[in-house]
Amino acid sequence: MAILLTGGAGFIGSHTAVACLNASVDVVLADNFSNSSPKVLDRIEKITGKRPALYNVDVCDKRALRDIFAERFITGVIHFAGLKAVGESVRLPLAYYRNNLDSCLSVLEVMQEFGCKEFVFSSSATVYGDQPAPLTESADTGHCSNPYGWTKFMIEQILKDAAKANPELHVVLLRYFNPIGAHESGLIGENPNGIPNNLMPYITQVAVGKLKQLTIFGDSYDTPDGTGVRDYIHVMDLAEGHLAALGYAEAHAGCEVFNLGTGKGVSVLEMVNTFSSVNGVEVPYIIGERRAGDLATVYADPAKAEQILGWHAKRTVADMCRDSWNWQKNNPNGYDG
Ligand code: NAD
Ligand code: UDP
Repeated sequence: MAILLTGGAGFIGSHTAVACLNASVDVVLADNFSNSSPKVLDRIEKITGKRPALYNVDVCDKRALRDIFAERFITGVIHFAGLKAVGESVRLPLAYYRNNLDSCLSVLEVMQEFGCKEFVFSSSATVYGDQPAPLTESADTGHCSNPYGWTKFMIEQILKDAAKANPELHVVLLRYFNPIGAHESGLIGENPNGIPNNLMPYITQVAVGKLKQLTIFGDSYDTPDGTGVRDYIHVMDLAEGHLAALGYAEAHAGCEVFNLGTGKGVSVLEMVNTFSSVNGVEVPYIIGERRAGDLATVYADPAKAEQILGWHAKRTVADMCRDSWNWQKNNPNGYDG
């Protein structure tokens, strides 16, 4: 019996694999390595002492998926696979709609063929768009500002409809806020292609000397210090949230949605300062223009996950900064050294 992690070689998938294996939940990984490396498997084995099966497949490919389901007894799926770069999604909308929608539909159809019922989906706080924080799960969705966000919105709708039509389906939608950090071993972490778009990998690449300086995108927002505020969550807390969601999915039919965040807003400047003081490294920065589409303040109300899943984020912003840096400085070129 195993849980299939599509996109399991990626940032969140690999950390969730570790959390599952450490909790004696067997996992099978499927990934096409479009944004990851098969080398992550050695690291997962080093951390957990277990080496899960890893299939090099495109999960849009139903034949390849059927082979996995035929070979393994898959009792549930966590669907991480997807393209996730906001800017790229504006340039390549068709690739984003094709890959993100198709992969989800293919997985659902093959699950149905094999009588597999539990499905956990990686959604995003981006579905809330520009609304006042803290965001509860009942806040309106569908105010996305880019194709990436729309794929999350559309997949949520597909899953709600599928669960309505098939009372046997057990679906959990997880709306992640801003995952950062890395496993405390420093053996696995975030490994973006090219110049990072997100704040923490940018900070770590400046700190390690790969990039000259951070540009803070605006300091005139209506926030305490003028810089953007987000709800950063340690990726291991997020990974543990998936275990809680799997437990919930096992016991509950239908479609339920949970925010996975800390409920605390942290500004860009606070993050830079915490990173510098915790790690004793300078992060040179300049203040630049606002980034198009950015919001001032986004953070979760995480109460529902606490009440129903019995899960809450435990790790601090200092933990996130320490672990992100530990990963980056030990692996300046990601899984290639
Ligand atoms: P990631 O890019 O590290 O992981 C996604 C993995 O999916 C990659 O390993 C990639 O190679 C794989 N993949 C993509 N398309 C595939 C396909 N068709 N077949 C097989 N494998 C495929 O990203 P991540 O940060 O680990 O994100 C995981 C999921 O969480 C994504 O769906 C993402 O949209 C979502 N999410 C991420 C964040 C974030 O900030 N990291 C926030 C909210 C939601
Ligand atoms: N940010 C920044 N410089 C960067 C990258 C991000 O100032 O190089 C800011 C961004 O404006 C936002 C915060 O950091 O306020 C988090 O951005 P990220 O892209 O990581 O997450 P998202 O905007 O998708 O929540």
